[in-house]
Amino acid sequence: MGRSRAQEEEPMLSESARPLIEATAPVIAERLPDIAPKFYQSMFEAEPQLIEEGIFSRANQRTGEQPLALAGSVVAFATHILNHPESYPDELLSRVAHKHTSLGIVEGQYPIVEKHLLGAIADDLGDALTPEIAAAWTEVYWLMADALIKLEKGLYSEQANDNVFNEFTLVDKRETSEGTYVLTYEPADDTPMTDAVAGQYVSIKVRLPEGIEQSRQFTLIPVDNPRQRRLAVKQDMDGEVSPVVTAMEVGSTVKLSNPYGDVVLTGSTAPLVLISSGIGVTPMVAFLDRLVAEGSQRQVTAFRVDSSDAAAPLLEEQKALIEKLPEARFERWTVEEGEADHIGRADFGAQGVDAGAEVYLCGSLDFMKETRSALIGAGIPGKQIRYEIFGPDLWMLHDDAVEY
Ligand code: FAD
Repeated sequence: MGRSRAQEEEPMLSESARPLIEATAPVIAERLPDIAPKFYQSMFEAEPQLIEEGIFSRANQRTGEQPLALAGSVVAFATHILNHPESYPDELLSRVAHKHTSLGIVEGQYPIVEKHLLGAIADDLGDALTPEIAAAWTEVYWLMADALIKLEKGLYSEQANDNVFNEFTLVDKRETSEGTYVLTYEPADDTPMTDAVAGQYVSIKVRLPEGIEQSRQFTLIPVDNPRQRRLAVKQDMDGEVSPVVTAMEVGSTVKLSNPYGDVVLTGSTAPLVLISSGIGVTPMVAFLDRLVAEGSQRQVTAFRVDSSDAAAPLLEEQKALIEKLPEARFERWTVEEGEADHIGRADFGAQGVDAGAEVYLCGSLDFMKETRSALIGAGIPGKQIRYEIFGPDLWMLHDDAVEY
């Protein structure tokens, strides 16, 4: 992973900080499960608006996943620049920057995170954190923050409008499968809309019944009308946002961000393999639509897994797209008895995936971990397997195959 053009002029870790980071990174990595909750607790006590205005997910904070992902990303960044002093972890930075911009994060919020993250590290390590070590970690934090700020400014500047969120009206709502709704929105005013790239998502921001606002991301699925945004939202009855979004009736308004996300198709002509479970089919449908629109001759294999036929979102839409591609193969699995090609667990390592294929995965974290391991076991290099995570990026940070 080389340094991107935007980063070529960025400063690197100082020679005085390097040995201090080298000596303390493993300790801090090990202490993260204790540091992360302290960090969020102090930040939200001091800055409750970060949750109340929907910049941070309250559920991810409660489950502990988000603080671990955020604190972990700083350690992952440090580890990368220790191991590869000539480069930055571009993939990590890009994912984070896209998520940040979809939430409207701005430069002025970085000092807040610095204060509370470094405060939590100091609190956890006590006297072991000398002023020199604290200064070294502050340096690492700002190398990462400055790189993100630069990327985020670039992403904001590419948008067709300067607003983080725009008002949209729900114009159509239909159930695609048990508990999953396809929702079509149109802008409530004439604000210009950025064209989305297949695989990108928007953040949707809603006010919860108790008054606070919360945002979540949803992949954009194909539209015929470029002035529409279409989402497939699976209701999570234990969740905060999806039950509110799916309960809305046609005519209701919501706030939608501009499109972001970097898990998109590359220009490759290698065989393409799209593997999804459940609602993870949304980016796959977006990719298939793009291939159809381009008249692609590419060899495409789509595999999907669902719990049952009734709980298979966008199945007919996916099948219709597959039929329009000359070189496409489609197979599906369900856990429950039904009309799928296979009943029971899928072993993707045994499906004869071409070793040169470009693979995209989306589904639950467990599904993606298992599938990725099976594919790697079958000889597909890890770097050819891309994936979208429908939540905080915990797996990526601990994935040996992604080099930091
Ligand atoms: P949340 O409030 O986020 O809760 C999630 C889970 O956390 C709950 O099930 C519950 O088990 C647990 N939880 C909540 N509160 C607590 C608590 N107090 N204590 C303990 N546990 C708790 N989803 C789609 O349906 N379609 C898509 O196309 C889609 N695309 C996505 C694309 C991206 C890039 C990302 C990041 C996510 C995507 N998602 C998609 C997922 C979506 O953003 C939401 O995560 C999902 O809808 C759940 O949100 P929620 O607010 O309903 O649940």
